[in-house]
Amino acid sequence: MSDIIRRDPRAEWIARNRLHPLHAAMQPAQHSWMGPNGVIRKNPHGIGFIGPNGIKRIDRSGAQQGGASKRSAAVEVQLPLHQVPAPAFYINVVPDMVGGRLSSHDRDLLGLAHQLAGKDGAVLAVVFGEHKENAFATAGVDRLLVLDGEEFNGYAPEQRVQGLRAVDNQFSPRHWLLPDSRSGGGELGRRFAAALGERPATRVWQVKDQECIGRAGAGLQDLARPVARLILAAVECAEPVSETRHEALPVELSTAVARSLSRIEDLGAVAVDPAAIPMAESEFIFSGGNGVKDWGLFHRTAEALGATEGASRVAVDDGFMARDRQVGASGTWVTARVYVAVGISGAIQHLQGIGACDKVVAINLDPGCDMIKRADLSVIGESAEILQALIDAVEAYRNEAKRDAA
Ligand SMILES: Cc1cc2nc3c(=O)[nH]c(=O)nc-3n(C[C@H](O)[C@H](O)[C@H](O)COP(=O)(O)OP(=O)(O)OC[C@H]3O[C@@H](n4cnc5c(N)ncnc54)[C@H](O)[C@@H]3O)c2cc1C
Repeated sequence: MSDIIRRDPRAEWIARNRLHPLHAAMQPAQHSWMGPNGVIRKNPHGIGFIGPNGIKRIDRSGAQQGGASKRSAAVEVQLPLHQVPAPAFYINVVPDMVGGRLSSHDRDLLGLAHQLAGKDGAVLAVVFGEHKENAFATAGVDRLLVLDGEEFNGYAPEQRVQGLRAVDNQFSPRHWLLPDSRSGGGELGRRFAAALGERPATRVWQVKDQECIGRAGAGLQDLARPVARLILAAVECAEPVSETRHEALPVELSTAVARSLSRIEDLGAVAVDPAAIPMAESEFIFSGGNGVKDWGLFHRTAEALGATEGASRVAVDDGFMARDRQVGASGTWVTARVYVAVGISGAIQHLQGIGACDKVVAINLDPGCDMIKRADLSVIGESAEILQALIDAVEAYRNEAKRDAA
């Protein structure tokens, strides 16, 4: 494992928050103490850390207030278990599960659901089809209902509405929450509302004091109304659950789901040119900066990976990439599930633009740069070598898949 120290903003926040259940575990190791003659002694070696190039660095990870012990504590200490043995009512959430996993939007929704559930209610997540998620418990799911018939696969909004109606009949939830997103929740939620004959609250960004506030008037106005039963919520409608662990107990439907008339035929996914996808909508962005020395190789790698290309401002200003490819405060704010930053230092203006990305991969020569601190996965080295190795790996993988299929 790399010995690069990364910032963990959540751990730092917990260390500051005396009311957090993990606060005690996050407390720093002692760096000063009273000596035998009453003089306060300090351990000068305990401050900062030695970087990979042997130079002592100021610790921005917060580790100097707790060192390695703090991070291992975060791993070892279990969050308190929140149990609802006999739920007084349910708050149902239908996450989008883009790519089979909870997205950050889904997690915001689960946070909002817990706000509405309080102590007595249970949050029930309704998931369609197969999924790859194993963190339902820490995302705040008390009960999990998986509707996995093949009739729900692909684009099947009518059949999914039938499924939700069956869940509604059995659990009579106090509220239904769906993400107001283009990935499915926005459409499914509106169809479901029409099927129930209820008026949903849409584009909701806050629920407070028995009122929900949603964007209206082409996004220029806020509309406040009493909390609706069916809420289609926007990104960041609430803080995701982070302080408790939940049971995620599986539950089942007691009745079969009615089959809808198949008025919609799903002809499958259509291959699109990743370069033609607007960056703000792309799920996978491959972005280049001043550290890219061979732009031909960069374009070939993006093509091999099937990613949408992005760039830092320096790469744009130097004429290597078009202006509409600039990511950041003065470019496009992106929400990709995977963002690969090649030779980008991680200036604050660039990091602002990728704040909503799920996973960030950094390829950089400098292990101490801010992009590496932000990244979930880092590759330290010369960009050209790494890009070539990526192309080789993709080709080898595809050839193997072709051989297996033959
Ligand atoms: C008002 C304002 C708005 C701005 N808006 C934006 C914005 O929207 N978007 C934006 O991106 N910037 C913006 N900037 C600019 C921003 O401050 C940075 O200057 C810019 O992001 C730096 O781009 P960079 O990381 O590509 O280049 P650099 O800062 O030069 O970083 C290059 C990186 O590449 C690495 N590297 C070098 N050689 C190699 C190699 N061979 N292999 C691997 N890695 C290598 C280096 O270690 C370094 O980390 C803005 C600035 C201002 C003042």
